[in-house]
Amino acid sequence: MAQHEKDTSTLCLFDVDGTLTAARQKVTPSMTEFLTRLKQRVRVGVVGGSDLVKIKEQLGDNVIEKVDYVFAENGLVAYRYGELHSIQSIQAYLGEELLQDFINFSLNYLAKIKLPKKRGTFIEFRNGMLNVSPIGRSCSQQERIEFFELDKKEHIREKFVSVLQKEFAGKGLAFSIGGQISFDVFPEGWDKRYCLGIVEQDTYQTIHFFGDKTSPGGNDYEIFADPRTVGHVVASPDDTQRICQELFFS
Ligand SMILES: [Mg+2]
Repeated sequence: MAQHEKDTSTLCLFDVDGTLTAARQKVTPSMTEFLTRLKQRVRVGVVGGSDLVKIKEQLGDNVIEKVDYVFAENGLVAYRYGELHSIQSIQAYLGEELLQDFINFSLNYLAKIKLPKKRGTFIEFRNGMLNVSPIGRSCSQQERIEFFELDKKEHIREKFVSVLQKEFAGKGLAFSIGGQISFDVFPEGWDKRYCLGIVEQDTYQTIHFFGDKTSPGGNDYEIFADPRTVGHVVASPDDTQRICQELFFS
């Protein structure tokens, strides 16, 4: 039908976990089929916080060919129209000088605080962030819970983050306290909005974003609230299909 020709001025971007798949699960055949149908109407992209290996496990080895854009690690690893577009890393972006100032300052701070227990791996270096843990990531499950309980009372991570925010003010760093034993440090804007800088080069009229964690503090919040996107909150993968069905097939 003529009114259903492909609209290449519209992009639909989807979160992965909880939006296209159940949390940490594989995509269903029904969702794969749905994405293929949707791609005949509009441009389609996926943006996940996980790395490409994990995204392929969830969405299939051929996901790069199946959709127009695949953004792993929020877009630090970006595929566009089936080809590698760009790779970004925290060391390339911040530079060794600032990175090392940060690591040294953090280790120094850690060395001065006394906790009931300390284990190992206090700073884990990842592609898009540093993960900092006062107890150390190599603690046992029991030690992890003990720290979490103590942190609720003494706000060890909160205090650490506020010291870092003061020390590195104006350096473009963002902090996120999540999970039980650590917090993440990454350049400002390196949440899911990172991928918008890449799709902007393709000048879309409308960019829809679909995600399940769209409240403040959720990992979809920033891109959902960004003026460059039309945000949609979904309750489940079924809900994602239902909303898209209404928007693009009726
Ligand atoms: Mg999600």
